Amino acid sequence: MKFRQFFSWNYTGNEQRAAKYAEAGVTDVLVCNRKQYDLALKYGMRPYWKCFTPSVSIGLPPQVMSPDEEKYQEYISGKDLDRKLSGKERLKILHKRRIEKQHRYGGEAVVEIDTQSSKIGCFISDKDLKITGKQLDLLLKDAPDKAEGMALDFIGYTNHKGCYCKNCLAAYKKFLADSKLADTPESKGCFYRDRLAAYYNAVIDYIKSKRPDFKIIIHVYPDFRYDHLYGNRIKADYCGQTVAWYFKWNQKKIEKYTKFVIERAKDYYANVEGMPFIGLNADKNSSLGFKTPAEVEQELKIILAAGGRTLMVCNGSDIIKDGYWEVFRKYCGKK
Ligand SMILES: [Zn+2]
Repeated sequence: MKFRQFFSWNYTGNEQRAAKYAEAGVTDVLVCNRKQYDLALKYGMRPYWKCFTPSVSIGLPPQVMSPDEEKYQEYISGKDLDRKLSGKERLKILHKRRIEKQHRYGGEAVVEIDTQSSKIGCFISDKDLKITGKQLDLLLKDAPDKAEGMALDFIGYTNHKGCYCKNCLAAYKKFLADSKLADTPESKGCFYRDRLAAYYNAVIDYIKSKRPDFKIIIHVYPDFRYDHLYGNRIKADYCGQTVAWYFKWNQKKIEKYTKFVIERAKDYYANVEGMPFIGLNADKNSSLGFKTPAEVEQELKIILAAGGRTLMVCNGSDIIKDGYWEVFRKYCGKK
């Protein structure tokens, strides 16, 4: 039993590395420039031209969180730290703080307050994609003819729950009135989930109106607390949803999530192919979890046994590290 399709994020493409990715079984890959694109084609991997993210840097207003969430984010991102600290010293403190706060890097939170380390833009406020559309045009402008499609990432809420800016609160109030609902956690979950899916789908429609041949690949991230596996509401061609995060999950959870991601992929849209996503970090000293090659192998076996034949991995660069590369080659490689 092997995987037939394998997508890697963070692909670094010099000739030797591109060959290693291909041998590990990577079939689909994110490319950020022409050199990566050419190497992907040369080694038989389908290139996805760049990744769209609704970040503050494209001109979107930052999402607004509760005061406690703002405080948490300042702490884990080290806003208070002395600017004179070296990068190494700074990172050491950040790792310590993130371990102390059980920060999960956008994966399912294990404590009440957990946020992204930087703010995502308020995409709900971008009515008719005025700002988003400009950024998509920029990315599409130099997209090569043979690009397979485009990737989307970081579409979600900085605090995993919702945005509390004036626009969002007004829209939520209107939603409650229109649907005659009380202000409950369920209503909030429903509102913010539907806005997420609606934005994703508007972005996908926009890209396909310009490039009808494009396939869209996504990783549903950061986690949405009210509904972890809402990805099937998105009309992406390849929908990556987390079945094993960077921090180790138990076998039952990996099995259950894999089955859902695969079996329920077409609940809303017929074109969607579910892709089990696993988080991989090969650095023992990082606060971003750590898995040995044997643990990664165990996860791949569980996903295969649960029916998964497609796979998505980040950090992509760890796929080709010693020990891990051999595991991927065994379960994804063509030989
Ligand atoms: Zn907002």
